[in-house]
Amino acid sequence: MKLYNCYICKTLNYKPYVTIKDSLNISSFTIARCDCGFCFVHPRPSEQELNKYYSTDDYLPHSKGKGLLFLLYRIVQKITFYNKFILLRKSIKEKITHLDYGGGDGRFSNYVNSKKNATSSFYDPYYKKSSNIDLKKNKYNIITLWHVLEHAYDLDILFQNLEKKLDNRGKLIVAVPNFDSLERNIYKENWAAYDLPRHLYHFNNISLDKLLRSKGYKIIDKKRMLFDTFYISILSSMKISNISIIKSLFVAFFIVIKVLIKGPEFSSSLLYVCEKEK
Ligand SMILES: [Zn+2]
Repeated sequence: MKLYNCYICKTLNYKPYVTIKDSLNISSFTIARCDCGFCFVHPRPSEQELNKYYSTDDYLPHSKGKGLLFLLYRIVQKITFYNKFILLRKSIKEKITHLDYGGGDGRFSNYVNSKKNATSSFYDPYYKKSSNIDLKKNKYNIITLWHVLEHAYDLDILFQNLEKKLDNRGKLIVAVPNFDSLERNIYKENWAAYDLPRHLYHFNNISLDKLLRSKGYKIIDKKRMLFDTFYISILSSMKISNISIIKSLFVAFFIVIKVLIKGPEFSSSLLYVCEKEK
């Protein structure tokens, strides 16, 4: 087995933490936990092996499917697009020049383009038809990584690209699933955001802080993702065959209220607004 140093603390001080079935139900993957708090899939699948988990029709972000789950996904997406754009507007006072890095089929980017005083491009190495990014273009004043970091096979390349594309006074918005989320503790191996092996890394607020700081970013704000919390809780409960709809809704509301009280560190996803360290 090839050993990889922990990406954050560069040591081999990690141990197997949990083994979970993959998203296609054909094998299992182990998540290792490092002494520094960072968790990652180990052993790591090859890029070729990973590709088969992205080409499946069941992968909702790339899917054009039907059904209740898909409908729920699209409803949540509409609400979150609105909330995400409000965050962009609050972060950038002048005209928004936005890049949605890892933006799938460009849906959010199109949404931003439909707004006044905003232009947007998108780029996604995993989505074959993707990318309207202009590589020669000047820098962007805001880059979003909505649930992208945990998928990036090569984090060095990702951060090099960000360094090139983000204006020195620009903002970087990062959202990742939160390994310390309340619903992971409740739903355990049924937690929907494990999504193995597509999610190669699992962050909590300590490891995400460390990573961003080591890459030269200052965290200026942390937000709660309440709709996302509700959605992931419901999605996780759907993996349990004998849970009633009433119970799964009750748990989802309970978690959302707890996140409102306890703070963004317990939300189903971590959402950070960052800027380059001067
Ligand atoms: Zn480590």
